[in-house]
Amino acid sequence: MKKLILFDLDNTLFDSRSFRKSVFDKIGNFYSKETTALKIAHICEEIYNEFIIEFGLFYPEMFSERLSKRIGKKVERNDISKLIFDKRTFKDHFHEDVWSTLRTVSKIGEIGIFSQGDTRFQHAKLAHLDQLISKGRIHITTNKRSKMIEVLQKYNTYKIFYVDDMLPYLYEAKKLMPNIRTVWIKRGRYAQNQKDIPDFKPDATITNLKEVIKMVAA
Ligand SMILES: [Mg+2]
Repeated sequence: MKKLILFDLDNTLFDSRSFRKSVFDKIGNFYSKETTALKIAHICEEIYNEFIIEFGLFYPEMFSERLSKRIGKKVERNDISKLIFDKRTFKDHFHEDVWSTLRTVSKIGEIGIFSQGDTRFQHAKLAHLDQLISKGRIHITTNKRSKMIEVLQKYNTYKIFYVDDMLPYLYEAKKLMPNIRTVWIKRGRYAQNQKDIPDFKPDATITNLKEVIKMVAA
């Protein structure tokens, strides 16, 4: 049976928190100096959190408008876009265990991505993993819950391993397809603040992605 290892992106492979810190500091320094720059970086993080609460994802294209309102300064969409979409920054913010894990796992099965986020933003991150992800196996959506059945059914002839930092999504996947292997990678703010879900225990709980290798190889 063919194997598919479906990875979530943010917090699972990509260290969203360290990425935000780096980019928001740059934005702060672009518009101001020293303490005010720090204040702007903090406002950026607040705006980010507003987006997550309102839409469940971050929209880089709408960011400049909100920042402009908050700091009372003209913020050009183009400047923000350049700072956020700087290719070099993305590469530095993958978790350390990603490269070797994906390289090894790609020899055992097909690697897919299932992520909730802005398409352009997520593809910019994934550009660095290009060769490791199997063709046509990238699924980016603005609503993971509603897209889940469609994505999983595409692979119903595969043995599926699904790795995510968000327990509720793993639970959802297990309900839809009970023979899927659910792997909870416990890192990032959602995993840290996650309460138990009654009647659900993922097939594995890990803190380092490398632990996926032996599960997939077994
Ligand atoms: Mg995630």
